[in-house]
Amino acid sequence: MSLFAPDLKLKNVHELTPEFLMSKGIKVLLTDLDNTLATYEEDVPSEKVIAWVKSFSDCGISVAVISNNDLERVEKFCKPLGIDYYHKSGKPRSKTIRKAMAKLSGDKKTTALIGDKMITDIFGAKTSGVFSIKVPPLGKRRMFE
Ligand SMILES: [Mg+2]
Repeated sequence: MSLFAPDLKLKNVHELTPEFLMSKGIKVLLTDLDNTLATYEEDVPSEKVIAWVKSFSDCGISVAVISNNDLERVEKFCKPLGIDYYHKSGKPRSKTIRKAMAKLSGDKKTTALIGDKMITDIFGAKTSGVFSIKVPPLGKRRMFE
């Protein structure tokens, strides 16, 4: 098993459905923010992203944002979503990933992480033992991502 091979590759987050996660027994969805849910230029979630998050919570799947960006950015984006969020999460280290999934009563077998970056999101998911989903970055990359 390669630490850099995601369990699933999608074209964007909207391809991921509650039905798919439920078929895998997944109850907790952790998501990256920058270039996964939105570009750096978007400081609040689009209606489409709000509806996407709601589609999971409607099915009993808890969603939380795990970002390596700062509090101001992450809080402004996530507040309208009404979900847990973690800033400066230290991905790919597993500490915050484990903390977030424990708070939502998830474990390795019932948690998935979706993100655009191999070295933080996918490597972090792999080292934490959760299901990993890769999407291409929505915009330009930045070093601190
Ligand atoms: Mg990202």
